[in-house]
Amino acid sequence: MNPIYQISLLTCLIFSIILFAGLLYACIVFYQEKERRAGFRALLLALLLPPIYLITWHYNWEVVALILTADLLITGILFFIPFGNKKNITDDFPQTQIDERDIMFSRNELKENTERYDEYYSKNPDKLKLDNEFRKEPGLTAEKSIFFNELAYKAANASFYTVDQFHQAVDGDINPTKSSISKSELSKFIKDWSRKLGALKVGITELKDYHFYSHKGRGNEYGDPIKSNHSHAIAFTVEMNQEMVAAAPQSSIVMESAQQYLEAGRIAVQLAQFVRSLGFSARAHIDGNYQIVCPLVARDAGLGEIGRMGLLMTPKEGPRVRLGVVTTEFKLDTDKRTKDNAMLDFCLQCKKCAEVCPSKSISFDDPKLVNGIKRWQINSESCFTYWCKAGTDCGRCMACCPYSHPNNLLHNFIRLGIKKSALFRILAVHLDDFFYGRKPKSADLPGWIPKNEKAQK
Ligand code: SF4
Ligand code: SF4
Repeated sequence: MNPIYQISLLTCLIFSIILFAGLLYACIVFYQEKERRAGFRALLLALLLPPIYLITWHYNWEVVALILTADLLITGILFFIPFGNKKNITDDFPQTQIDERDIMFSRNELKENTERYDEYYSKNPDKLKLDNEFRKEPGLTAEKSIFFNELAYKAANASFYTVDQFHQAVDGDINPTKSSISKSELSKFIKDWSRKLGALKVGITELKDYHFYSHKGRGNEYGDPIKSNHSHAIAFTVEMNQEMVAAAPQSSIVMESAQQYLEAGRIAVQLAQFVRSLGFSARAHIDGNYQIVCPLVARDAGLGEIGRMGLLMTPKEGPRVRLGVVTTEFKLDTDKRTKDNAMLDFCLQCKKCAEVCPSKSISFDDPKLVNGIKRWQINSESCFTYWCKAGTDCGRCMACCPYSHPNNLLHNFIRLGIKKSALFRILAVHLDDFFYGRKPKSADLPGWIPKNEKAQK
């Protein structure tokens, strides 16, 4: 027999075994992740696809074997040879600073018949009508909200309460005796210790004006211009539990968000105290008490990109993280950011978050010019209004994002293809839809949380 036919037939045999093993492995992983639909579909493919190659080998169909092998080769080359990473899908440097008074959390704290309320809406009359919409709803963790769950809401509030206790510790006295530690030694120690404390990924960046809010929007310093002599920032992520997120927008999401804000806050407060004890000013930026815009700082510290849903998307956990930041005057070693155009290109095509968003707050369009730069911007008013209706911080977009799948061999293999090839990115969007559905249903709440929502999903 012609050696090319022999090689083709052998390739069919070997590929049928690899394909069967791969799909069976995917099936097991999906079932472990409680993704029954994806598991069933992987099993179906494992039973249907490999036999095509096995039968070809068994019956010596030489020409078919040659076609299948050529197809495998071309597909392999197209899917894993790096090409097609588009440039400048979004711009990197915001032209203006954000005023913290404009963000929804600050506007939510404005109370009618107060000086702050009157002043804010007299300067921003266009926002009054929009904000009256969320004020009509029960509110976050409120009893009359859709996903009311007494235990879960009280647990979330206990975590938020504990984060609040850290507010007094975000800044403090500086040791008058400065340490002579080198910047490389301190940078390395901070990163290693942060991971030991529970951070997932840590990066360091030099601070730019656009990282800082222009004015404080919450607390006693409301309205004060932000002033800081800090030149560097340590940014880190903490992981949100996959099972708690998968049930979003039910009550587990707000429990998990609050818990991870607390974790990020604890680590940030410890790090800032540590740097001050070495004789250098440092401030922790934690939930409800920020001077900086965390996603921008984390992006520039090399931790990810800001995608369609407006959250930081990390390479391995996607948006399923919370962020902590510490700023300091100490000039630490910085990390070099390499813009991940493949991730942004995937966002350009995927649009799953826009599809599943219950309040239609995420755009299906390409990035647009906002304040002089090209970016995606969600409708934060309609998103927040849904939160106040649901009683949770929703998180449906985060739960369904293909990048949010767990950090394991199966999903990392797909992420590698996404990073390498434009064609693979197109395929990956369809694969995610095939296995999980274009609009996946919310998972059940973890078994240990009593299910007393008034409405489900
Ligand atoms: S769901 Fe898709 S479009 Fe939305 S952020 Fe994730 S990858 Fe981007
Ligand atoms: S959190 Fe919910 S409402 Fe807000 S953008 Fe995401 S999916 Fe939409």
